[in-house]
Amino acid sequence: MPQEYDDLPFQFDHIIARKHGGPTTARNLALACFLCNNHKGPNIAGRDPRTGRIVRLFHPRRHAWRQHFQWDGAHLMELTTIGRATIAVLEINLPHRIAVRQALIEENVFPPLPEKLPAQKRGRTT
Ligand SMILES: [Zn+2]
Repeated sequence: MPQEYDDLPFQFDHIIARKHGGPTTARNLALACFLCNNHKGPNIAGRDPRTGRIVRLFHPRRHAWRQHFQWDGAHLMELTTIGRATIAVLEINLPHRIAVRQALIEENVFPPLPEKLPAQKRGRTT
């Protein structure tokens, strides 16, 4: 969810919560929307709803978003167990959250444009 379309200001989340020894340093902070931050709370892991196993949550400083998630319209789909546990703990696909994203899709402002990929190296032509 882009900040400019959210009613509430984004918050600084301690990726590893202070109660788990996470420091208040740039490497351990991430901007999060109010809903994600509140659903995450101090959690650093969650139960994979498919396997029941405990899985660490997505770490936005250490993990690549595109390896764990992809958008399917307004639904966030998991690509990994980390993605699945994170979507579950943060309740990212609650119906009202999907409805907001769907409205933003209809306004052509969601998902945000993908970052430009670095130019691919091209093989030499001979
Ligand atoms: Zn969020």
